[in-house]
Amino acid sequence: MSFDPVSKVFELLQFGEYGDVNPSITDSATYTFMQAVTMSDTFEGKQEGCFLYSRHWNPTNKYLADALAAMEGTEAAWVTGSGMAAITNVILHLCNAGDHVVSSLTTYGGTFAFLKNYLPKFNIDVTFVDIDNHEEVKKAMRPNTRLIYTETMTNPMLQISDIPALAAIANAHNCKLVVDNTFTPMIVSPALHGAHIVVHSLTKFINGKNDCVAGAICASAEFINSLADVNSGTSMLLGPVLDPLRSASILKNLHTLHIRMQKHSQNALYLAKHFEEAGLTFNYPGIPSHPGHDTLNKITNPGFGYGGMIAIDLETAEDAAQLMEMMELEGVGYLAVSLGYFKTLFSNSGKSTSSEVPVELQKKMGMSEGLVRFSVGLDHDIEKTWQKIRKCLVALKYIQN
Ligand code: PLP
Repeated sequence: MSFDPVSKVFELLQFGEYGDVNPSITDSATYTFMQAVTMSDTFEGKQEGCFLYSRHWNPTNKYLADALAAMEGTEAAWVTGSGMAAITNVILHLCNAGDHVVSSLTTYGGTFAFLKNYLPKFNIDVTFVDIDNHEEVKKAMRPNTRLIYTETMTNPMLQISDIPALAAIANAHNCKLVVDNTFTPMIVSPALHGAHIVVHSLTKFINGKNDCVAGAICASAEFINSLADVNSGTSMLLGPVLDPLRSASILKNLHTLHIRMQKHSQNALYLAKHFEEAGLTFNYPGIPSHPGHDTLNKITNPGFGYGGMIAIDLETAEDAAQLMEMMELEGVGYLAVSLGYFKTLFSNSGKSTSSEVPVELQKKMGMSEGLVRFSVGLDHDIEKTWQKIRKCLVALKYIQN
C-alpha cells in the first residue's frame, strides 16, 4: 500500500483571506453572528462552517488539524495543548466508569502513569501487555474492553507495534485501536493499517523546534465531532485546546517535516551502524537484527527511513550519567528530555521520562537502568558527531581505542 503523506499535506489549498500564503491567524476567542438563529443552530451542530467559540473550534486550529488529518490519512483531527491532552481526552472519551483498557506495557512514562494511577479514579481497569505477544493481547481482552492502546514505536524500548494485527484483534472485540505515532510521523501512517485513532505529541518531531508543547487527535469525522460536542464532548468540556498562535507556527514547521525526518533517520542509521561495528548493546529498529525490523518494513511509507530514535545500554545508571555529561561537554547535544529537536538530545529513560514506571516493571520490559535514549539531531557532519560519542565511550571503556 503506497501512501504519500507529503503530497497530502502540500496539496491542501490553505491560504488567508488576502491571498496570504500562510493562512491568517484568527486571534479571537469568540465570533459574531448576524442572526440569532444561526448562533442557536451552531450550538445544536446544525450549522456547518460557523465558528462559535475558540475552545470548540478556531479557524487557525482547523488549518493545522486539516493538515494533520491529511498527513495521517484520517477524515478529521483536533489539536490540543499537549500530547498528554490528546491521549487523555481520547481515553476518557472512549471509556465510561467500569470499562477496561488493554495497553502496551512500554509506553511514554506519562501515559503509563495516567493509565496506572489516574484511571482507577474512574474505576477503569488497565491490563498491561507485551504488545508483541498477540496471544497475550487476545487473552487480556474482556467484554468491557473499549480500546487497545499502543505506540507505533514504543518509548523508550523502540518496540514496533504490528498495527494490522492489533487492529484485527480490536475489530474482533468491537473496540478501538489507539496508536501514538509521536516517534514516527510520516514514516508510518497507522490509520492506513487499521488504527481507529492516532494521537501525537506535536511537541516532538512535527514541530521540531522545542518552543512549545502541543498535541493532536486524528480520527473519523464522527469521533472528532463527538469530542467537540457542546453537551458531551470530552475536549469541549475539559478544554485542552491549543492556542491558535501556536497552531500557526506548528503548521509552518509541519511543511518541512519530511526533510527533517529523512535527515534524523539518516543520521540515526549512521550512528546505529557504528554502534554495531563497535560491539555496543543498542536498540535501533532500522537495522535488520532488531526484532521489529520486518514489522516496521511492512508498514513504513517509503523514503523516510526508520526514525531518529536510538538507545544504547550502558548497564549502570552511573555510567549512563557519566556518558551523558561527557557528551554534553563534547558538544554532541544536550542532556535533556524530549525528542525531535534539531540538536541531539539524550536522557537516561529509567531516571527521567520512564521514571513513573516502577523499577520491577522497567526490568520486565527489558529496560536497563543504564539505557540512554538518543533523539538524533539534524547534524550536518554526523561522522564528527560519531567521533565525539566514540571518544566518550572510549573514556568509559565501552570501546577499546
Ligand atoms: N507520547 C510520547 C511517545 C511521548 O514521548 C510524549 C512526551 O514525551 C508524549 C506522548 C506526551 O507529549 P507532551 O509532552 O506533548 O504532552
